[in-house]
Amino acid sequence: MLKQGHGNVSKLSAALRHRLITEDEIIHGTLTHYSFAGAEKWLQEVCWRRYWKGWLEMRPQVWTNWRARVRELRETLPREVLEKVEAVESGHSGVACMDLFARELIKTGYLHNHARMWWASFWIHAEGLPWELGADFFYRHLLDADPASNTLSWRWVAGMQTPGKTYIVRLSNLEKHADPALLSDRSGSHRIADGAVQRSLQQDYADTSIHSLPEFSAALPARSGRVGLWLHADDLAPETGPLADLAPDTIAAFTSARLYDEPYRLAENRIAALRAVVSDGIARAASHYRCPAQLSEVDDTGAAIVAWARSEQLAEIVAFAPNVGPVGEVGPRLSEHLARRAIRLTLIQRESDTHAFRLASAGFFPFWEKMSAHLRANFCT
Ligand SMILES: Cc1cc2nc3c(=O)[nH]c(=O)nc-3n(C[C@H](O)[C@H](O)[C@H](O)COP(=O)(O)OP(=O)(O)OC[C@H]3O[C@@H](n4cnc5c(N)ncnc54)[C@H](O)[C@@H]3O)c2cc1C
Repeated sequence: MLKQGHGNVSKLSAALRHRLITEDEIIHGTLTHYSFAGAEKWLQEVCWRRYWKGWLEMRPQVWTNWRARVRELRETLPREVLEKVEAVESGHSGVACMDLFARELIKTGYLHNHARMWWASFWIHAEGLPWELGADFFYRHLLDADPASNTLSWRWVAGMQTPGKTYIVRLSNLEKHADPALLSDRSGSHRIADGAVQRSLQQDYADTSIHSLPEFSAALPARSGRVGLWLHADDLAPETGPLADLAPDTIAAFTSARLYDEPYRLAENRIAALRAVVSDGIARAASHYRCPAQLSEVDDTGAAIVAWARSEQLAEIVAFAPNVGPVGEVGPRLSEHLARRAIRLTLIQRESDTHAFRLASAGFFPFWEKMSAHLRANFCT
């Protein structure tokens, strides 16, 4: 839907979001073939994901607040507003080019970054709909749906993330960058004509105060009995990084139908993609560690992990530290349940995540200044 189609983007985001490939592999591969200066723009793009993740890890309440607002808005908005939400989501806003984006998202699970910005701005500033429900629509359909990149990009378009900065969609910008076919039907386009869309002020309900980052181990613990590796959708590359030398007796991953339906109501192709990435992770882990591995569809992930640990007589479960989002929500109750049964839960964080997250307390550019120095020192030969 862009002039160059999707030829100038990598479409790596769904793989990166679930870490079928890691940022470190991409950065290393890039700097093996290109100079830092030549590849800087691309490296910045790749590092945006970690920046947003770190920002949200320090402010987990922004995620919980967004989820609570989605529930609340669905229950309290007047019927005509909810009908408008449904019409715009299903590609019936009457602005033909925006309707094509909504349908492209539903059909393919992907939108180019420009299209995401245009459509989010259209939703918020032209339609005057709450950003939280637009972000929820993206979250249900994007195959790369990421708690941090999605929530915080929507907040940015709404003007909440960077004070004073709001993204306003302009027809001239689409004329410059979008595939002309997208604008062949001009119906409704006067609504996004330059100057027609005004910043809509939406109230920021979120508390954005900073919390200290949770501490995780970077190294494997000494073995004290049977060890299980719990694989989850936040990082499906255990064969690279600190878990590579783990010698698990068994591996398990769980996908949860309950989580898909409520509260998230994920689209069918999104659920299928989630199952596909987790089975890919399990297959690679089974072949790397050469031990039994299972993928189970369960109702309650926390309860299933405890049951698995007991049936496998595990002394310890090792996993990558989950991020803020659906996987992170499993964590706190799980540690409690396992501790009661004297099963140790060790969560390991990649050093590169720990390093990047600590730099993400303020804006992207101070982050990038330090991150680029780190990349030059550690990845350039
Ligand atoms: C409203 C809105 C919602 C978004 N929601 C998501 C989301 O749920 N998940 C998601 O992964 N990205 C999201 N993005 C960011 C960005 O649009 C996508 O990462 C990018 O379009 C993915 O396509 P690509 O892999 O072809 O990108 P490329 O242009 O090839 O970029 C390479 C990689 O860099 C990273 N990247 C590039 N731009 C950004 C960015 N602005 N923020 C974060 N990472 C970036 C991604 O990992 C991407 O795969 C959102 C952006 C907006 C404006």
